[in-house]
Formats: sequence, C-alpha cells, structure tokens
Amino acid sequence: MICYFCHEALSEEVDIATLFKRQGPLCRKCRTELSRWRAGKRCSFCHRLMQEQEAGCLDCQFLSGRFRPPNSIACLLDYNAAAKMLFHRYKFMGDCALAEVLAMFLGNSFREYEVIIPIPISKARMKERGYDQTTMVLDAKGLKYSNFLEAEDRQRQSTLSKMERARAENPFHLNCRREDLEGKRILLVDDIYTTGMTVHQAMEKLYTFFPDTIHVLTFSKA
Ligand SMILES: [Zn+2]
Ligand SMILES: [Zn+2]
Repeated sequence: MICYFCHEALSEEVDIATLFKRQGPLCRKCRTELSRWRAGKRCSFCHRLMQEQEAGCLDCQFLSGRFRPPNSIACLLDYNAAAKMLFHRYKFMGDCALAEVLAMFLGNSFREYEVIIPIPISKARMKERGYDQTTMVLDAKGLKYSNFLEAEDRQRQSTLSKMERARAENPFHLNCRREDLEGKRILLVDDIYTTGMTVHQAMEKLYTFFPDTIHVLTFSKA
C-alpha cells in the first residue's frame, strides 16, 4: 500500500495509534505535516490567522454585520503548505484519491446532526472538474447527506474583491421543503473557508426554513 499523498510505500507502522485506528492512506510523515497548525494568534470562531495587532477578527466582524452567524465553525486542517498542495492537487489536478485522505481527518462526531448539507458547486464547475470535491469526501466517509442547496453558475469567487462578493447576489437556492429543515440540527459542509461569504450566503437561505442550529464544518481555513 502506498501513501496517497507522497506516494511512498507505507511501512508497517505498528504503534498504539495504528493498533486502535484503521491504518489510513497516509504515511506518518504526511499525517504529521497535514495535521500541523501554523503558529500565531487565531480567531476563536473562524480560526483565521490574525495579525498580532488585530483586536477582533475583521472577517467575522464584517460578516456578523450582514448575516446571522452559524452556531460554530469546525475546521479539519490548517491551510499550511502541505494542505495547500493537497487541495491544489485534489481540486485542480484531478487527484480524486485525496478524498480518502480528507475523509480520514473527518472524525466521528456526526450523530448530533440530523441533516448534513454540502455547499454545492455550480453545474459549470462540475462539468469542468468532473467531481464534487465536498460530497466525494462525505461519500468516502460513508456519510448520508442531503442536496438541499443548489448553486447558480457565477463568476469564480477568487476573482472578486471582498466588496464585490458582498454585493454579489446570493447564488444559492433551496431544493427542499420547510419541514426538511424546521427545528433540525444541521451540519453545513464546505471545502475551504476563505472569507466565509459562501457559507454565510448558503446559511441565509437555510435560516429561512427555521432550523434549530447550523454548525459549519470546513475541510480547511485559508
Ligand atoms: Zn506520505
Ligand atoms: Zn474570525
């Protein structure tokens, strides 16, 4: 068996960790690299690496003035150099085996949610990439999810400035009934949380059907 990330052969790593956990598709070195969090002051809510002199997180302040926030945001991996390379290969170079690697970091605390909803990609992006980078990880983990959100085709977010993104129309619409969300504990899953605009626009739609809670899970925080 080879490591899905560096493609080196996996040695038999029998230690306490591997005795109790299923050996993942990652060698110990890559697992350590990907699990590392860059040092520095972080926002306790969105996990953003802040400037030392920053008193409060500017991204969270900007969003909370415009949107109702989620109950929490959990982040699997820091967007360090190794994670950056992983997402580049996974999203833009067709290395879809890396879904297994991300699934390995997912953990097992999903029982508290009644509905898992992925942030969808547009039809144009799906056609271009051939797979949905978020649901493929959920599939690798064997999690059931509901495609209650749909996305319109639009300009790539990264080419827009923050103000342009704020002004951009909400690209999402709901594909469910009120009773699918009302009073429910929801987990909203996104691949990479950048400014948070995408997640908050998706939540703006979900909140119109009165869920009990919305927790956000993102694979990485850029
Ligand atoms: Zn490796
Ligand atoms: Zn923040």
